[in-house]
Amino acid sequence: METTVQINPNSIKFDENYGPIINGEMVEPVYGYIDAVNASTGEVLSKIGRCGKEEINQAVKAARAAFPVWSNTSIEERSILLNKIADVLEENQERLKMIESMDTGRAIHEFDADYSIAIQQFRYFASAIFTYYEGASRPVQNGYLITKKEPLGVCAQIIPWNVPMIMTAFKLAPALAAGNTIVLKPAEDACLSVLEFAKLVVGILPKGVLNVVPGYGKEAGQALIDHPDTDKLAFTGSTEVGRLVGKTAGERIIPVTLELGGKSPHIVFPDVDIDQAVENATFGYTSFNGQSCILGSRLFIHDDIYDEFVKKLIERAKQVKIGPPTDRSTRIASIINEKQGKRVLKYFDIAKKEGANILYGGNRVTVPGHEYGYFIEPTIIEAESGMRISQEEIFGPAVTVTRWNDVNEVIKMANSVDYGLAAGIMTGNLEQALGTANKLEAGSVWINSYFNFQTGAPFGGYKNSGVGREYSKEALDAYSQSKTIVAAYQLPPAGFFK
Ligand code: NAP
Ligand code: MG
Repeated sequence: METTVQINPNSIKFDENYGPIINGEMVEPVYGYIDAVNASTGEVLSKIGRCGKEEINQAVKAARAAFPVWSNTSIEERSILLNKIADVLEENQERLKMIESMDTGRAIHEFDADYSIAIQQFRYFASAIFTYYEGASRPVQNGYLITKKEPLGVCAQIIPWNVPMIMTAFKLAPALAAGNTIVLKPAEDACLSVLEFAKLVVGILPKGVLNVVPGYGKEAGQALIDHPDTDKLAFTGSTEVGRLVGKTAGERIIPVTLELGGKSPHIVFPDVDIDQAVENATFGYTSFNGQSCILGSRLFIHDDIYDEFVKKLIERAKQVKIGPPTDRSTRIASIINEKQGKRVLKYFDIAKKEGANILYGGNRVTVPGHEYGYFIEPTIIEAESGMRISQEEIFGPAVTVTRWNDVNEVIKMANSVDYGLAAGIMTGNLEQALGTANKLEAGSVWINSYFNFQTGAPFGGYKNSGVGREYSKEALDAYSQSKTIVAAYQLPPAGFFK
């Protein structure tokens, strides 16, 4: 959804600092603050709390105290409040988008889709919660059976920096709808929009229902995972940290949702219109500056059209506008931070060393006034499917191109990674498209339109891409547990137990 009103970045006023939001108010963090930096200019925008065990303890305590009342609110009331949250997000979206663009370095135009998804997410769960409880009782002999859904309790949620508001909505909406209370830890590089949003939301929800605790992953994040009084862990981020979260949940025997990395194949059949397919492929690998777990980062192109397709892909890459994040015409902007920028460039070296061929891009470029940021060219790498560059998540605007001839062979290559989050297929042949989609090991498969998100469609990963599904009704299962109550009309006759 394209909007025309853009807030002037210079008009954004930040608070001097942002402490954690605990029990309905912003509090002073014990260990002070961390700079919140503009990803492309290096300017210190504000400061965020450097939270640790103390704040996590307070936040979990507040969430625990709020749980009995919140879990007993009617679904009508929770639904009204979720719709209010959606309204507040909608009313404040232009300002929040600009804050997020400055904080993360991502191109401002992309946030139209991000915020539309986030707003819809709150509205969806405001409605979905009603039908979730339907049909859960039935008569049994001499009585009745009720299957009751109950919220889990205090949910610990950790989100990454790449799509902060989408992640916030994915985590908060189903958990709140199901009647849970929350302690949310945003990523230290992408806190400002989340904290500004949380300031608005805590006025809508009863105190302690939502607590937001910023800080470093190794401090605030680790303390939250380790806290013994939570009832659910939900994490989106790297597979490495995801494993730690899963391990802790296993030790504590509490449910866990993990949304981890991806290395998504995008398969091009020979019957496509090449110009249209190139456009869709370019959208699929350059969006989010490439920092997406669902990036279409491995293009498999049929031999019959390979040469022409790749030639046009390169021509298209040359036209992708690299520029300041807050300029609406920018399509690739700044990587989140220096560490990630260097990581992306290191992958290009790895590619060269293992014999892959960089056909276009591969360099950092300078954008005047934004010299601090890591702006990386759209990069096209001819590679074999088994190479590291084709197997590991780069998290930059890069794509590998690989030839294929045989459909079974390309499906095998597509599935030959540890991940299984998303996949794309381009063809006008429906039988071919659906037949291939059936065989791909991926939680989401987009045919002829990459990133085709539809509210209410389950989202999550096969294999190392995670455990559980979000974005859909299934997320309500992830934040609820069932209780079966079987009621007999009267006691059995005396002497029945022989
Ligand atoms: P990450 O370390 O897994 O960070 C994700 C979240 O976990 C952040 O909030 C982070 O906090 C927190 N965290 C880090 N260490 C933690 C720990 N020991 N205990 C608890 N929480 C912890 O990911 P990253 O370093 O930001 O990115 C590294 C790679 O992860 C990327 O290159 C990419 O491959 C992958 N990634 C995937 C997604 C996705 O959507 N699936 C998103 C982002 C990154 P801080 O950031 O504040 O330290
Ligand atoms: Mg930042």
